[in-house]
Amino acid sequence: LNDTGQLLTSFEPGAPAGAHGIPLCVPELRGREGDYLQECLETNMVSSVGPFVERFERQLAERTQRAYGVATCSGTAALHVALQIAGVRLDDEVLVSALSFIAPANAIRYVGARPVFMDAEPRFWQMDSGKTIEFLDKECIWRRGGLYNKSSGRRVGAILPVHILGHPVDLDPIIAAAQKYSIPLIEDAAEGLGSLYNGRPLGGLGDAGCLSFNGNKIITTGGGGMLVTENAAWAKEAKYLTTQAKDDPLEYIHNNVGYNYRLTNIQAALGCAQMEGLDQYVEAKRANAQAYKVCLTEVEGITTMPEAPWAFSAFWLYTVLVDENQYGESSRSLLKRLGAHGVQARPLWEPLHRSQAHAGSQNYRVEIADQIHARALSLPSSVGLTEAQRQRVVDLIRR
Ligand SMILES: *Cc1c(COP(=O)(O)O)cnc(C)c1O
Repeated sequence: LNDTGQLLTSFEPGAPAGAHGIPLCVPELRGREGDYLQECLETNMVSSVGPFVERFERQLAERTQRAYGVATCSGTAALHVALQIAGVRLDDEVLVSALSFIAPANAIRYVGARPVFMDAEPRFWQMDSGKTIEFLDKECIWRRGGLYNKSSGRRVGAILPVHILGHPVDLDPIIAAAQKYSIPLIEDAAEGLGSLYNGRPLGGLGDAGCLSFNGNKIITTGGGGMLVTENAAWAKEAKYLTTQAKDDPLEYIHNNVGYNYRLTNIQAALGCAQMEGLDQYVEAKRANAQAYKVCLTEVEGITTMPEAPWAFSAFWLYTVLVDENQYGESSRSLLKRLGAHGVQARPLWEPLHRSQAHAGSQNYRVEIADQIHARALSLPSSVGLTEAQRQRVVDLIRR
C-alpha cells in the first residue's frame, strides 16, 4: 500500500517503491467503483453476462467516436482479434512501432504473421510516419491485388502504429498511405485513451482501435481491453470470436475456432466507474506534466516530454530524456538513485527489433528508437501524485 492506502499494482523489479515510496503509476479508485461492484454482487451477475459489459462498450465507443465497442479480457486480446478480423493471414507482414511495449508484436505472431519494425521519430518519439511511407513506397511493390515487401516477398497485411506514453502518432500521412494501398490500419491506443490527434480521439482514427484497462493504464478494470470500430461486420465478427465462436448457443455448435476473451461484468463495472473519472484523470496527468516541465526544463541534460502542436496528450507516463554527458549521469544511474530513495522510475521497453522474442524480424532503418531508449526514463505519474511527492522526485533529479 502507498501513502494513501492504495494498492500498488505496478511494482517493477529494480526500483521498488517501498512502503513510503512513490510508485510509478497506480490507479485512482475513489469514484463509484464500490457501488457498481456491489450491484454485481446483489444481482448475481459477476461473470460475462450483465449490463455493465454493454454499458462499458457503449461508453468506449462514444468516447472514441466509433459506432461499436467490443470488450475483451485484455488489450493484447483486442489486438489479436483486430488483426484476425482485418484479414491478416499466415506469413503476412505487419508494420509496427519498434519503440513499444511488446504486446502488439506478439499479437502479430499469434495470427502467424511477422512484424516489420518501424523507427521512432526524434521529436515526439512516436512511429515515424515519413519512414513508414518510404518503406511502403520504395521497399514494396503492388501485385496480385496486394502490396508485397520486395525483399521478403510477403504481403503487407496491416499497419499497426502504437501511440506511446499517451502521445499520438502523426497519423494522417499513414492513414493516407494505408488507403492508397488498401491496407487495414489498426491503432494500438492502449496508452492513449483520452488523448486527441488534431481534435480526434485516439483509437477512433484507424479501421480498428485497441485499448487496454490494465492496472497502470489511464483507466483500469483490473485487466481488460476493448476493440472499437466503425465497421459493423468487424464488430460482429470480433464479438463472435471473443465469445468462443458459438453458432448455436443452445446446441453448442461451433463452426470456427474462437477464443474466451470475454470481459466479466465485474470488470466492466469497475470500467464504468472509471470512465466517469476519465476527464478528471486526464486533467490531473496534464497538470502533472506541466508541473514537471516547469521544474525540469532548466536542468541541463534533461529533455522534458514533448507535445506536438497537433496533439492533446494524456501524458500517460511522464517521460524525460537524460543526456549522460550534459547531465553527468546516465538514465540508468539516475533510475537506480531514484530507486534508492523509494522513487519508482522506469526505462522504456527494449526496442522490439532487439527483442529475442522477435529475433529474425525485419526492421526498416531503425536508429532513433535506440537513442531514445538509451536516454528515456518514465517518472511517477499517478493521477493521485501529490505536489510534495512530485517535488521529491524533482529535487532528486535536480540534486
Ligand atoms: C498495455 C499495453 C498493451 C497490452 O494491454 P494488456 O491489457 O496488458 O494486454 C498493448 N499495447 C500497449 C502499447 C500497451 O501499453
